Amino acid sequence: RAKALGRKRWQLFDESLQRTAIDVLEMEGELREALRLDQLEPYFQPIVRLDDRSVVGHEALMRWNHPRRGVLAPGDFLAVAEESGLIDAMDWRLFKRSAAWAAGMPPGTYLSINVSPRHLRREDFDQRMLELLGRTGMDPKHLVIEVTEGSLLDDPDNARMILTRLQSHGVGTALDDFGTGYSSLSYLHAFPLRVLKIDRTFLASLGQQGHSAAVISAVIALAGALGLDVVAEGIETEEQRQVLLELGCEFGQGYLFGKPMPATASAP
Ligand code: C2E
Ligand code: MG
Ligand code: MG
Ligand code: MG
Repeated sequence: RAKALGRKRWQLFDESLQRTAIDVLEMEGELREALRLDQLEPYFQPIVRLDDRSVVGHEALMRWNHPRRGVLAPGDFLAVAEESGLIDAMDWRLFKRSAAWAAGMPPGTYLSINVSPRHLRREDFDQRMLELLGRTGMDPKHLVIEVTEGSLLDDPDNARMILTRLQSHGVGTALDDFGTGYSSLSYLHAFPLRVLKIDRTFLASLGQQGHSAAVISAVIALAGALGLDVVAEGIETEEQRQVLLELGCEFGQGYLFGKPMPATASAP
């Protein structure tokens, strides 16, 4: 009897494993379709000065107009896109559409794009990016590339080479989600960074306890010493804006100022 039960459990286990594998395969197929049918679309979220709320830039965020499931955010498909390698083509598709949108941006504002760690492992990423900017007519000085700590440290030498070459053409680099990764400060100066983006997990507890305020002001001091701009992510309340201003944070992004919106609804 025990044996029978045991077998049954195994069977259940097997079936659920199988279903997961099929889901992943199915999504891979659907992502290929998404590329073929051009279902990926950049949404744009404003980045503002915290004091007067003026817009200094926009971050492009990938959305998938899924034929049955509606508009999907990266949380629903990024893992499969990364594992299958499809993110490569998906990112380039999004860069192209975002750059075309940003080509007519007012001077003094920038477009920020997220790049998969894969791109920083390739030797020709900078060349491809500059070619794309040339084709779309977007000024490289208006582009900021958002990278994560993990993607910098994956192949640090190649990442440094690519970002330095891009920097010589005026392209900036932002360190995204700061505070969620290794948060080792020692490597910060080793890369040509322009912007530090404080992850929104820090803001969640802001105003409740003294701890995150102390951490944020330390990060702002560090950024200042390294000559970096600071953008706080995920600002949802006026109180958070006030506290961040008091801590000396200059820029921010979040639902308080604007949600990610399709190009038709967000002027560049
Ligand atoms: P991220 O780069 O840190 O982007 C910020 C995320 O926070 C976005 O989620 C944005 O919609 C969300 N957000 C902005 N303001 C608020 C707020 O006030 N409250 C809350 N709760 N959330 C806010 P999203 O668009 O779902 O993107 C998730 C992540 O997916 C991004 O995190 C980025 O790492 C990645 N991603 C987005 N677009 C692309 C892309 O085109 N290529 C690649 N490789 N990754 C992308
Ligand atoms: Mg980002
Ligand atoms: Mg971020
Ligand atoms: Mg984040």
